[in-house]
Amino acid sequence: MAYIRGKDGEVYQPSEMVKAVWPDISGNTVNGLDVEEKSNPVPVFWRTDGSIAHGEVLQYFYTVDQYDPRIIDARKYREANKLIPISEVAAEKIKDTPANLSAAVKEAALDCDADDVGIAAWRPEWTYSDRDQPLGPWTIVLAFDQDFEEMDKAPDLDSYVEVVRQYARAGATALRLSNWIKEQGYNAEAKTGPMSEDVIMIPAAIEAGIGELGKHGSMIHPKMGSNFRLSMVTTDMPLTPDAPNIFGGDDFCASCQVCKNACPPDAIHNEKQMVRGNLKWFVDFDKCIPYFIDNQTCGICLAVCPWSRPGVADNLLAKMARRREKQIA
Ligand code: SF4
Ligand code: SF4
Repeated sequence: MAYIRGKDGEVYQPSEMVKAVWPDISGNTVNGLDVEEKSNPVPVFWRTDGSIAHGEVLQYFYTVDQYDPRIIDARKYREANKLIPISEVAAEKIKDTPANLSAAVKEAALDCDADDVGIAAWRPEWTYSDRDQPLGPWTIVLAFDQDFEEMDKAPDLDSYVEVVRQYARAGATALRLSNWIKEQGYNAEAKTGPMSEDVIMIPAAIEAGIGELGKHGSMIHPKMGSNFRLSMVTTDMPLTPDAPNIFGGDDFCASCQVCKNACPPDAIHNEKQMVRGNLKWFVDFDKCIPYFIDNQTCGICLAVCPWSRPGVADNLLAKMARRREKQIA
C-alpha cells in the first residue's frame, strides 16, 4: 500500500491493522524523548523475545507481504549468511602495539568485505538498560554500502531486499572478523543489525569516525551518504580509538529539509530534540513505524538525502570544507 506524500502536503495515516496492534504507550516515550537526564536506552523495536511494548506491532510486521517471493528469498538469504562456523580463541596471543593491531584489524575488516571501518572505546551508555555490558573494552564498527538504484525504489519491496542483503553481508563480515580476532588469541563478539539485541550502534559508529547523525535519524557517511548499514565487533584485543569525523553532515542538515519534505508520515523533526539527556536529530517513532510496517519497508529518507546520490558526496564534502575554512578565517 505504498503511499507517497502528495504535493498538497497530504500526510499518510496508518492502516486499521496497524492501529489494532498499536499499544497505548508511545514509542517516543519508550525512546526517552524529552527526558533531560542521561540514561541507557530501552529497547523499542526489533526484539522478538516479548520484552518490548511494541511486540505485537513487530509480529504484525512479519506477516505483511510474507508470501511475496522477494521477501521469502531475502529472508532465506539472510539466514544462510549466518551459517559461518565460529572459531575458537587461539591459545597464544599475537603480541604487537595497539597501533599495529588496529591497522591489522582494519585491514582484516576490509578483507572480510566491509566498505569502511572505525574503532571506538565501548561506552556503557550504548547498552540497552535490560542487558549486560558486551565484551570490551573496544568496538570495531563496520559500514556497508547499499545499491543506490535499489534503494531509490523505496518503499518498493526491491529496496527491502537490498536492505536485507546488506544486513546479511554486514552480519557475515562481523562473524568473519570476530573469527579472525579469535585466531589472533583475543576474544570477540559479533553484533548485527537490526536485531543486535543488547547494544545500539549509531553512537558507537559516530565515535568511531564512520560519520555524523543526520536529520532523518540515520547516519551520513562522507562517501556513502545515508545509503549504508552497520555491524560491529566488540573485543578485548588492545586497540587505539579513531576520532569522530566532523565533516559537515550535521551542519548541512541544519539548512536542508529534503528528507523531512519527502517523508510520507511527516515523521522527521526539523529541530533537534532532547532524548535521554542528549540534544539530537530524532525521528517520530509513532509516525515512522506505522508507515514502515504498512509498506513492509521504507528508507525514502535515506534515498532522497543529497549525500546518498552517486557522485554528489565528494562535492558536498568540498563545499562543507570551504564553509568551515571561511568560518575559521
Ligand atoms: S523511514 Fe524515513 S521516510 Fe520512511 S517513514 Fe521513516 S522517517 Fe519517514
Ligand atoms: S536529506 Fe538533508 S536534512 Fe535530511 S539527512 Fe540528508 S542532508 Fe540532512
